[in-house]
Amino acid sequence: MQKEYTCTVCPMGCTLIVTYEGDEIIDVTGYECNKGTDYATKEHTSPERMLTTTVRVEGGELPLVPVRTTDPIPKGVMLYCMEALAKVEVAAPVKEGDTIVSDILGTGVNIIATRSVGKPG
Ligand code: SF4
Repeated sequence: MQKEYTCTVCPMGCTLIVTYEGDEIIDVTGYECNKGTDYATKEHTSPERMLTTTVRVEGGELPLVPVRTTDPIPKGVMLYCMEALAKVEVAAPVKEGDTIVSDILGTGVNIIATRSVGKPG
């Protein structure tokens, strides 16, 4: 069987074709450099993504603060992390870079604020 991925490592955006049987990757084609092989293997076996979303702020000049993961997390836990973050509320003031949640859902990855939200006035 074959599956197609677009390499996002550089702007070339090569189309990578992974040929596989069950859990075994037989071949990767379509890459312009070796990074494409690593990318396709990772995407095929354990894809990860950076998570960006917002978290509620209590008593802030804005009702929400944008947040992101400090590192990519497995694609399979993205939804669960979003659900967990929907229940989080932090008190103003929040500073850019503040840790909002440590080790979210045991991934070893922290959630940090990507902007500051002060108190009104
Ligand atoms: S395979 Fe290499 S050249 Fe192609 S997009 Fe990926 S990093 Fe860029």
